[in-house]
Amino acid sequence: GQCAVMCPVGAISERAEWREVQDELDAKRKVMVCVTAPAVRVAIGEELGLAAGTVTTGQMVEAQRRLGFDFIFDVNFAADLTIMEEGTELLRRLRKAWGLELPAASGGAAHSAGGEAASHGHEHSHEPGPLPMFTSCCPGWVTTVEKSYPELIPHLSTCKSPAQMMGAVVKRYFAAKLGKSPEDICLVSVAPCTAKKYEAERGELRREGEGQDIDYVITTREFGRLLRERHVPLASLPESPFDNPLGESSGAGVIFGNTGGVMEAALRTAYELASGQPLPKLRVEAIRGLAGIKEASLALPDTAPHGLAGRQLRVAVASGIGQARHLLQRMHDGLAPRYDFVEVMACPGGCIGGGGQPKSDDPLVLLKRMGAVYTIDERSAIRKSHENPSIQKLYKEFLGEPNGPLAHELLHTTFADRSHTSLPAYSTFERMEEAAHPRLQK
Ligand code: SF4
Repeated sequence: GQCAVMCPVGAISERAEWREVQDELDAKRKVMVCVTAPAVRVAIGEELGLAAGTVTTGQMVEAQRRLGFDFIFDVNFAADLTIMEEGTELLRRLRKAWGLELPAASGGAAHSAGGEAASHGHEHSHEPGPLPMFTSCCPGWVTTVEKSYPELIPHLSTCKSPAQMMGAVVKRYFAAKLGKSPEDICLVSVAPCTAKKYEAERGELRREGEGQDIDYVITTREFGRLLRERHVPLASLPESPFDNPLGESSGAGVIFGNTGGVMEAALRTAYELASGQPLPKLRVEAIRGLAGIKEASLALPDTAPHGLAGRQLRVAVASGIGQARHLLQRMHDGLAPRYDFVEVMACPGGCIGGGGQPKSDDPLVLLKRMGAVYTIDERSAIRKSHENPSIQKLYKEFLGEPNGPLAHELLHTTFADRSHTSLPAYSTFERMEEAAHPRLQK
């Protein structure tokens, strides 16, 4: 484990961008904004020689200030935003599959009071997709779908990843607050992930006439390199809070770093949005831990309205692409239950085990990082995304409704078939639909 700390081999073998970031920080041409993914705060200490699983959130923020960033925001905030959008999307897909009326707030129904929320064109293009819905926050998984399982594209949540939602909000909302245009801001994302570098370049994420929302992605290891180059002693720094308005987050935001975390965060919010009651237990034990495939089933309470009462939500979680392929095969062969929502993270353990994290020989390293992430959640004053006051304010002030027109424009995306091969005549997608929802068979 110490080798990666001593030698920069890891940083050279991947496409390193820390030098460019250093140049931008020196040049001071732009407003420098730094955002950091959930899994970095439990690993950057380790990269700099602290024990695995040490939480260094406050020191990390202070270190970013000392590097010269003007504003330090938290991708956990955008993880909460993702849950608002993805939870709402899940409920819309469920309602459609169950033959229920879609809620007015989403812009689809005639009851929309303002009329503005249901502007033309959105009703049709944002028709809810099929079940099961798959998560879309991991670019490793999204690329796998686009290359190997393009028939599953309608099943991918249309939500951008938290980092990319953050990018859109920084370049559109925050820039305007500063009286700046998007190109006056240089946005650097610190991620546990090498795939995020390629995600940032996706054409699907661009708005016409604008550059990339995220200008540079550096990994946890590159961030460590930058701190060593600049002699910033992270471990001995005082703690500093994130900046507002994009720095406040809930415990649900941070658990995105662990396999099963996106699902647990989504259940905390979707259950409450659907039933009007909080999830009885915030810990969804069955989808925690390092097993490659996990499952849970959850009944909506009898008091839930609109035909939702008593319905079972069935979810699955896969971490590691091999495990995801195995799960898809089981679904394809009709050997799996009828899932409504499936989380896939490409790295074993989720982002805590990402390709940009510190190298380690410790067999327990993932458990240590995972424990640290859940500790941050448990110590958070707010545990659910929809209770984050900064999120509520962003919708009120700027975005409107979750899944509404502006939310769709800025926070959702599209995917493309990148298989470039002629696919066999059978459709995995249809077979899965049958296996997943026999009621929908013609
Ligand atoms: Fe990146 Fe791995 Fe996390 Fe996917 S699971 S977002 S590839 S670090």
